[in-house]
Amino acid sequence: MKFRDYLKVNSLEEFEQAVASVEGPVLLLAGGSDILVQARDHRFKDHTVIDVLKVEALREIKETDGYLEIGACAKQEEIAQSPLVKRYAPILAEAALSVGSLQIRNHATIGGNIANASPAADTLAPLAVLKAEVLVLKDGTEQRMSLLDVIAAPYKTNLGDRDLILKVFVPKQAESVRYNYTKLGRRKALSISRMTMATLLELDAEGVVTKFEMTVGATFPKPMLFPDISDMLVGKKPTEEDIVKVARSLSDKIPEIAGVRASTRYKQPVCRRLSERILKELIEGEQDA
Ligand SMILES: Cc1cc2nc3c(=O)[nH]c(=O)nc-3n(C[C@H](O)[C@H](O)[C@H](O)COP(=O)(O)OP(=O)(O)OC[C@H]3O[C@@H](n4cnc5c(N)ncnc54)[C@H](O)[C@@H]3O)c2cc1C
Repeated sequence: MKFRDYLKVNSLEEFEQAVASVEGPVLLLAGGSDILVQARDHRFKDHTVIDVLKVEALREIKETDGYLEIGACAKQEEIAQSPLVKRYAPILAEAALSVGSLQIRNHATIGGNIANASPAADTLAPLAVLKAEVLVLKDGTEQRMSLLDVIAAPYKTNLGDRDLILKVFVPKQAESVRYNYTKLGRRKALSISRMTMATLLELDAEGVVTKFEMTVGATFPKPMLFPDISDMLVGKKPTEEDIVKVARSLSDKIPEIAGVRASTRYKQPVCRRLSERILKELIEGEQDA
């Protein structure tokens, strides 16, 4: 495992100084759980590593008026156990808890999960349905971007190598918002996702849908939202037929967007059946624990 140089920074000021001092490619390092695996083939031998994990300003999880603000270096385990995340975005707490093992979750950060841009990253589908935004420090200026715009393609972002994710803004969800996060892997524990499903649903007192977002992860080249699918239920009191239509339309996105691949044969029918089951359970009020 080789790097050109290694710099550790303890504050954002030190980060900016370090970035200004480095010539050649930079590799930002947080928990290292993706990088240390990737670095085994020496692909980063010309890179100067800037280790940002100890920057206190990147670790905080706090609430403001409409948002949860999650520092880019918050660990998956901290997110999974955070009372604020459990209260205002429980789907994200559940997804974070599904990442790897406890040892991995104690290294793995949310910023790293986003910037690594793996289609199998567990937090991406929940962050998509939550309509999360990301605050990025770019050439000394802060820029707020939709998560969907940060990720360009599998393992590719629209960020430069010196662009630092500072925090993730997650709109706070009302207690009335029901959610489901489902992760399918090859085995029950410690598995990399083959497919994930993230759903948010809110009904009013009459059973009319006031909010609906549903997406599939580990399936498309990047996290996606489907306003046409949301429109199929919002403003309606869903019938059995509506649910079947949503499930069919969502599962049809798989070949439409990802093309017909070996996995389509199982992903499409699994997505259809799971969507139906999730929607029925959410509408009937069987909320996740
Ligand atoms: C055994 C094992 C099991 C795993 N299981 C899962 C799993 O079940 N689900 C899952 O989703 N992932 C899993 N992962 C992948 C990994 O743990 C996560 O993607 C993790 O969240 C990455 O965070 P990190 O801090 O370790 O990232 P790092 O390895 O430090 O960095 C990853 C990438 O993000 C960039 N980066 C990091 N922080 C920032 C920042 N603040 N701004 C800009 N760029 C940044 C780095 O430059 C690098 O390109 C697993 C990994 C291992 C080794």
